[in-house]
Amino acid sequence: MTHFDVIVIGGGPGGYVAAIRAAQLGKSVACVEMYRHNGYGVHDRPSLGGTCLNVGCIPSKVLLESSEHFHKLPHLLEHGIAISDAHIDVEQMIARKEGISAQLTGGIEQLFKANGITWLQGRGRLIAKDKVAVTDHDGETKEYGASNVILAPGSVPVDIPVAKADGENIVDSTGALNFTEVPKRLGVIGAGVIGLELGSVWQRLGAEVTVIEASDKLLPMMDQEVAKDAGRQFKQQGLNIKLGAMVQGTEQLDGEVIVSYEDKKGTQTLIVDKLLVCVGRRPNTNDLIDDSVGVKLDKRGFIVVDEHCQTGVAGVYAIGDAVRGPMLAHKASEEGVMVAEIIDGQAGHVNLNLVPSIIYTHPEIAAVGKTEEQLKAEGVNYKKGDFPFAANGRAKAMDAAAGRVKILADADSDEILGGHIVGPMASELIQELVVAMEYKAASEDIARICHGHPGLGEAIHEAALAVDGRALHKINK
Ligand code: FAD
Ligand code: NAD
Repeated sequence: MTHFDVIVIGGGPGGYVAAIRAAQLGKSVACVEMYRHNGYGVHDRPSLGGTCLNVGCIPSKVLLESSEHFHKLPHLLEHGIAISDAHIDVEQMIARKEGISAQLTGGIEQLFKANGITWLQGRGRLIAKDKVAVTDHDGETKEYGASNVILAPGSVPVDIPVAKADGENIVDSTGALNFTEVPKRLGVIGAGVIGLELGSVWQRLGAEVTVIEASDKLLPMMDQEVAKDAGRQFKQQGLNIKLGAMVQGTEQLDGEVIVSYEDKKGTQTLIVDKLLVCVGRRPNTNDLIDDSVGVKLDKRGFIVVDEHCQTGVAGVYAIGDAVRGPMLAHKASEEGVMVAEIIDGQAGHVNLNLVPSIIYTHPEIAAVGKTEEQLKAEGVNYKKGDFPFAANGRAKAMDAAAGRVKILADADSDEILGGHIVGPMASELIQELVVAMEYKAASEDIARICHGHPGLGEAIHEAALAVDGRALHKINK
């Protein structure tokens, strides 16, 4: 039986990063990955990279970028640029997305080769704490020995019985990344991250989009001042979001999907051409681990781990979407690095409180640390500084002067406890606050740093000044 120092099950951003780091540290490493990609012009191609590179983060950001260009065209007139006969070639847009995905997943394959990592193509199953069975795509099963196993099987979309995805008219996120024409009317169930991002893509390209959300608040986990600000901007763009609405059933008739839902006014009907169901994801842990191994799953199927991603069975670790914490690619990767280093005898740590969370809509929304609601609930004495992009020159030049930066700091120590941004390039700007918070910076530290002008980062500088009531380009109350 072939033996490896480390076998990783799952080649997503958790698993492939863990494999690379373990190989860098001199371990013999195999990564089991079963995924075969099907997309525009692609048939059953075995592919590394997981949800993130094949059907998640990257493909969605590629489509957000394309659709944003299209959406901006009418606004170019203000700049003195007239474009006539603009149209969208959806197949070309999807082909570009597939091309970028293929380049990046091919890049992981190259990195595996360069680091001497063995890719075992097929489905892996942990049959003993030091043994993995791999069933290849022809159905043949082989067993491999491992001193350490890292489980990184990721997650899959949650289904709801009232709107079962059929891959045709009722789709999950993968289906909505692959429409070959713009649906005239798109219904979305769930105003979470996927619903807002993919709803935005098709709305910018001309679809009439209606989002049905069970919660009576938009993005209840986000800072509500920021979420409301974003909600107003989504409404102005034409995203129709129905809060406090519960889907009761769906029916398909003559190519249309008839959705019935209940809101505070009673039973309502929505008729659409395509329906995207995105009500969360669940851990992909069915039949992954033999019961005899002793690795515990919680009642929702998450693998139970401690803060070092140890399962409680010596030498068996689990990371990424299949364990507690946010289902985010960067969190999965950091856990992968941590576990590889722990296996090497080093210290390892991931600060789950400072994992940035970003929604790539227009405007972008980004957050790190505590929300104002959390601080209130925890009884923390805090102060707040906030600065609008309307007073930022760079944002004005970019035609993106909506939204704000909000910084929450401890009232006594001034340590930054939370940062929330809704506005242009929030995804990039948030990093300054992540770094600051990792170093336990005070708002005064950011207030004293010279920020380049004109720059969006000046809004962070001003929000930090505003914590102490001394923002320069707004009237401090
Ligand atoms: P995954 O990426 O899901 O990878 C797990 C891999 O394991 C899969 O390839 C699967 O085939 C394989 N596997 C599972 N079981 C087995 C087995 N038994 N044997 C062999 N292989 C197996 N996150 C962000 O941070 N930013 C974003 O912008 C973002 N956008 C997203 C957009 C969409 C549409 C979706 C769906 C998700 C998005 N996410 C985003 C979430 C992100 O994709 C996940 O958090 C991330 O991919 C989790 O990484 P992972 O390695 O834990 O799992
Ligand atoms: P989500 O948890 O973000 O949102 C699901 C939404 O659906 C919630 O608002 C919930 O209240 C609502 N909902 C649940 N059941 C419902 C029902 N029956 N009817 C109506 N609404 C209902 O989940 P998602 O959007 O599916 O995304 C899954 C995960 O993927 C996210 O948790 C996120 O971690 C990850 N993701 C991240 C990014 C990013 O980082 N930019 C992008 C996409 C996905």
